[in-house]
Amino acid sequence: MNNLEQRIFAGGRISFNEALSLFSWDLLDLAAAADYRRKLVVLSEDVGFILDRIINYTNICEAKCRFCAYHARAGVIEPYELSLEEILSRVRELAEAGGTQVMLQGGINSAYTIDRYREMLRAIKSNFPHVYLHSFSPAELVHLAGRSNMQLDDVISTLKEAGLDSVPGASDLLVDRVRKYASPAKISVEAWCDAMRALARCGLKSSATMTYGMGETLEERIAHLDVVRRIQDETGIIRAFIPWSFSPARTGMAEVLPATGMDYLRIIAIARIYLDNVVHFQAGWLTEGLKLAQIALSCGADDFGGVLMEEVVVRATGVHLQTNKEEIIDIIRNAGKVPCQRDSEYRIIRRYA
Ligand code: SF4
Repeated sequence: MNNLEQRIFAGGRISFNEALSLFSWDLLDLAAAADYRRKLVVLSEDVGFILDRIINYTNICEAKCRFCAYHARAGVIEPYELSLEEILSRVRELAEAGGTQVMLQGGINSAYTIDRYREMLRAIKSNFPHVYLHSFSPAELVHLAGRSNMQLDDVISTLKEAGLDSVPGASDLLVDRVRKYASPAKISVEAWCDAMRALARCGLKSSATMTYGMGETLEERIAHLDVVRRIQDETGIIRAFIPWSFSPARTGMAEVLPATGMDYLRIIAIARIYLDNVVHFQAGWLTEGLKLAQIALSCGADDFGGVLMEEVVVRATGVHLQTNKEEIIDIIRNAGKVPCQRDSEYRIIRRYA
């Protein structure tokens, strides 16, 4: 074994350039190394999944990101806003089906004041106190603070007091060169980092995602991982890392060639090795398909994410994938793992031995 291989198998930290060199490894060797790293951290063959629902309460968004087919001005979905009653009815359906987590996601919309956010959270928590609200995004919170003329910490504390339990990291690609083209009105990398620091100060946990395949270089892919690793070193709030490929159809970047399955497996494996301070890695069946996500369980992933009773953002790009609890259990078992329904804090609710 060379020096890099020895460090990887000893659980040590690897450098930016060493991570870059992993792109040239044979995929099976890379997968074996990532799987080894998973075992060092997760200590079992358990694979978690959660019964959840995304509620996209509006698609009227002022950011108009080029990579998004969901916002109303992309012309794929008519503009809409869900009423509070409609939101509550969707949460009720989830609760009645045994679901435990709701992800409220809107966009950047000036009509949504801090009071409206608070009202939404309070109404859900008072009717469904056991439903965990893993909701909004750093960009949504930063823009809400700006238009409310409030400090970000005060916005987060206000929403936490109203019932917000944690916030998805919604990182897109943490490279300003790409963001300036793909999502210029959202937030910069530094603003994303500041938002994560603010969440940590307010005692809320988060996650980190990665949308790759938007014309970035391999160096920029590692640069994204590097930002995540640094923020996790600083805050410790990232519960999981979730990479997914950009789906270009129907977006303002339809000319981009979609990333391949090999790209996905390499990214999740390299991320597992580079992000030595993150425990859970989700296999993204929603964008990559169930079969590729199943293989990702041998490339460093230890979680299958949400069953998702409803999803419209990826669907807007024409990617229509659906599953259910039984199918997920079967897929995890067939990968030689133990399916475990978990909660939002990654505690096991039921193990399907
Ligand atoms: S990605 Fe989010 S912020 Fe950007 S246009 Fe779509 S909904 Fe709005």
